[in-house]
Amino acid sequence: MITKLVLLGATGDLTGRYLLPALAALRAADRLPDGFEVIAAARQALDDGAFQRMAAERLERHAPDVSAAVRADLVRSLRYRRAEMTDPASVSGLLSGIRHPVAVYLALPPGLYATVVTALGTAGLPAGSRIALEKPFGEDLDGAVALNRLLAQVAGAAGEQAVFRVDHVLGLATVQNLLALRLANRVVEPVWNSRHIEQIDILWEEDLGLEGRAGYFDRSGILRDVMQNHMLQVLSLIAMDLPASLDEHALRDRKVDALRSARRLSRDEVTFRTRRARYTRGRLPDPAGGAGREVPAYADEDGIDATRGTETFAEVVLDIDTERWAGTRFLLRAGKALHRRRKQVTVRFLPAESPLSGGAAANELRIGLDGPEDLALQLTGGVPLNPPRPVPVTLSAPPPATGLPAYGRVLLDILSGGSTLSVRGDEAEEAWRVMTPVLTAWQAGLVPLEEYAAGSAGPP
Ligand code: NAP
Repeated sequence: MITKLVLLGATGDLTGRYLLPALAALRAADRLPDGFEVIAAARQALDDGAFQRMAAERLERHAPDVSAAVRADLVRSLRYRRAEMTDPASVSGLLSGIRHPVAVYLALPPGLYATVVTALGTAGLPAGSRIALEKPFGEDLDGAVALNRLLAQVAGAAGEQAVFRVDHVLGLATVQNLLALRLANRVVEPVWNSRHIEQIDILWEEDLGLEGRAGYFDRSGILRDVMQNHMLQVLSLIAMDLPASLDEHALRDRKVDALRSARRLSRDEVTFRTRRARYTRGRLPDPAGGAGREVPAYADEDGIDATRGTETFAEVVLDIDTERWAGTRFLLRAGKALHRRRKQVTVRFLPAESPLSGGAAANELRIGLDGPEDLALQLTGGVPLNPPRPVPVTLSAPPPATGLPAYGRVLLDILSGGSTLSVRGDEAEEAWRVMTPVLTAWQAGLVPLEEYAAGSAGPP
């Protein structure tokens, strides 16, 4: 297991909100190796002590459930180096004197990835080292292909074993549960096809607006931000044929096959199978039941260039061209500033064909991905009246006990060299190929940008 993590972008939001808390959870679970150390780097002029104080404050805020002693223990293992990532000499300086394999984690603005990976290649990483990159992996297909080529050069003989394209959704206990649901239950797989399933919805609804990430989001839009990566990862786990084993090759081969089978939308299809919209002024809900808070229209938010026409809501309907899925619709819907937070897969079964089924709701399996929803199966029971009356019955289970947070599992995989929770290069490219026709048609203005009030259910 690798004992040294070089964390680039150590003063950023991702590090403070997710990576440091994940390391604290790993420390609490005694999953970090002996002698574990973090070399944290960013541009700010800090010394070890100042960075440790910053980290301690962020851990207190974002990892309150980890004991103070464990947090302090982790903080002691953090070292800080000031570095300018656009300067190759500064990047290679971070590695000077390091002889043992390291894991370098790029928690940086994605525009810096190519420069930093090139600099790491020039500096020469110790054999057995690994590079982890946050999403988004490229801004489009060409960008992803170019980055893959660069990573292949730098990784050399180690190839994909040395590269971790992070999609933390793969580390969510609920997403791992999705796989278990399909693999370990005799009653699921026989009906997991278009003979029984009419439609599968993958929903990513957020009740927050920009939360200080305007600069990044305005250049990205929600399709690039969550649909091209997180949601297509979920789609691939749902739609793939079952792998012969759970090893990373077998699993990722099946996921890539599923993405390859997603039919590319024609320009004409994009006009009636996709929607895009952005929010106008409105009131976001307060999960605690309070009055909520007013937000301005997206176009009026600080740091937004309204002329870009960036979407905060997207809907795409895909077909998967395999024998298993011919005829099932896959609906992907993502939105910001909506009336509720819900990340969920809804599997809608065809109505039963029986004399009792008249008036009965079709079966539905709901799989919550990121709280607060859980696993629920909607069935129909009956009351012995004349005539019989169908009655809906819902079986539900709480979300699986999470243990480690998603980023904890992701970091553990990187340190220990397991690749099942990272996205393979061909997978990342295939995901861009699925979405490129949509992006191209949207850029050409073929789909109007609709509007919805912040705090509503989305465009009518
Ligand atoms: P951020 O808050 O803007 O932090 C960026 C970090 O990079 C800071 O530590 C910044 O430090 C450093 N940095 C920027 N330019 C630099 C340069 N030229 N040289 C050296 N350091 C530089 O961004 P973030 O939200 O943490 O996101 C980081 C990455 O994670 C992005 O790729 C993002 O897409 C991804 N991501 C973020 C989230 C999230 O919730 N935040 C979720 C998923 C993925 P200094 O300013 O001190 O240099």
